[in-house]
Amino acid sequence: MASERQYREQIVRYGRTLHERGFVAATDGNLSVRLDQNRILATPTCMSKGEMRPADLVIVDREGRLLAGRRRVSSEIAMHLLIYRLRPEINGIVHAHPPTATGFAAAGVALNQPLVCEVVIGLGSIPLAKYGTPGTPELTDALAPLVPTYDALLMSNHGVVTYGTDLSQAFMKMETVEHFARIALVTHQLGRQQPLAGEDLEKLVGVREKYLGGTQPIVPEPVGSRNGNKRKKTADGVEAGSEDLRRRRVSQ
Ligand SMILES: [Zn+2]
Repeated sequence: MASERQYREQIVRYGRTLHERGFVAATDGNLSVRLDQNRILATPTCMSKGEMRPADLVIVDREGRLLAGRRRVSSEIAMHLLIYRLRPEINGIVHAHPPTATGFAAAGVALNQPLVCEVVIGLGSIPLAKYGTPGTPELTDALAPLVPTYDALLMSNHGVVTYGTDLSQAFMKMETVEHFARIALVTHQLGRQQPLAGEDLEKLVGVREKYLGGTQPIVPEPVGSRNGNKRKKTADGVEAGSEDLRRRRVSQ
């Protein structure tokens, strides 16, 4: 286990990377690490993620009350607290607004089609949570049903949150979501999608189960449409892959 100082440096480093990659603008986004049962180290409000120093971070308790630090706690801390509460194995969280994935979230389109094999293995699918005003219980209420099953969520008209057993896992999931969003966008530009299905998808599910050591659900049922953001089927079959996965789940 790393020391608190190392965790502070890690958050600063990943914050700078988020900023350099254009995954956040101005003072957007936040990162956190669970230090122990009762303490969470997090980025403060109103600061560019590209310009933080280790001493700028704040430590809060499980209720989000400031325990240490000179700066103010972000109003988005509630989202982090929710995830730590619902997922005891999670120790690192990244929230950002990467442009392509956030574009999908603003268009009301989940990234839940099995278009790329490694994304199916790594994340299963990336559902779209319904909209909630940042910093209010609306937002956490929208995320809560999805947090137990998924490690990466699109937040409608807002951005993306990813989480992992440590901060580096959470960060890599954020990279994967944005990268996958770019690929999905190209398929939309080409006007054609060819989601994995049948036996090919079954095999990936098998790999995912092994990879996760049976601790997490298999390729999860896409829930974008179940969670309020009702979408019409489009000509290019935005929902086709979802149907495949849903059928597969039912047939078990
Ligand atoms: Zn945000």
